[in-house]
Amino acid sequence: MKLPKINELRYAIKALFSKAMTTKFPFEKHTPFPGFRGRPEPNDEKCIACGACAQVCPSGAIEVIDHAEGNDPKRDVIWHYDLCMYCGQCELLCTTKEGVKLGPEYDLSTFDRSTLSAGVTKELIVCKDCGEIIGPREHLMWLFERLGPLAFGNFNLIYVEQKDMNLTSEIPGELVPPPIQRQDLYRLLCPKCRHIVLDFNQTAKQP
Ligand code: SF4
Ligand code: SF4
Repeated sequence: MKLPKINELRYAIKALFSKAMTTKFPFEKHTPFPGFRGRPEPNDEKCIACGACAQVCPSGAIEVIDHAEGNDPKRDVIWHYDLCMYCGQCELLCTTKEGVKLGPEYDLSTFDRSTLSAGVTKELIVCKDCGEIIGPREHLMWLFERLGPLAFGNFNLIYVEQKDMNLTSEIPGELVPPPIQRQDLYRLLCPKCRHIVLDFNQTAKQP
């Protein structure tokens, strides 16, 4: 007869008097270990809706929906947990580093997939002439703060900053009537429309 090795015998006796390594889930709630990657939790205060996380998400679980029409343009950034594989790329590569964190929640089983999502909604800035999307207001403000004095080289950033300080006023949804003029430099314009204004400024001709 083959006798058990001494080490195996020692481990077996030790295991008899040790605490179990497994938990009794779902009868007892399991507390994940530090560093566990559970449900990605977007932070409404820290997320600037830039959409960078949607570009790096390997499973396409993050959706960016722009509602650019109307008087109240918005951007939705939505995490779909039924598509997520909890890799943590969105947290790792988040522009602000705090826009989303993978929390400890792992028990997401449900019969209703429509409940498996969370997201943020932010104001969207659009070109006042053609309606092209410039970006979410918070993203532009984030850039303004980081660029410091260099931000004053960009009309859109100046405008968004001044609007935040209530130095300018604007009727929501108002469009610049054609042809756009030199004074429209101080309006929110996409690069294409701004190029037209600058070209007009140089040549005094409306293209
Ligand atoms: S954890 Fe990974 S799969 Fe899930 S939303 Fe973030 S990047 Fe996408
Ligand atoms: S701030 Fe971070 S979490 Fe929010 S949209 Fe940008 S990359 Fe995603």
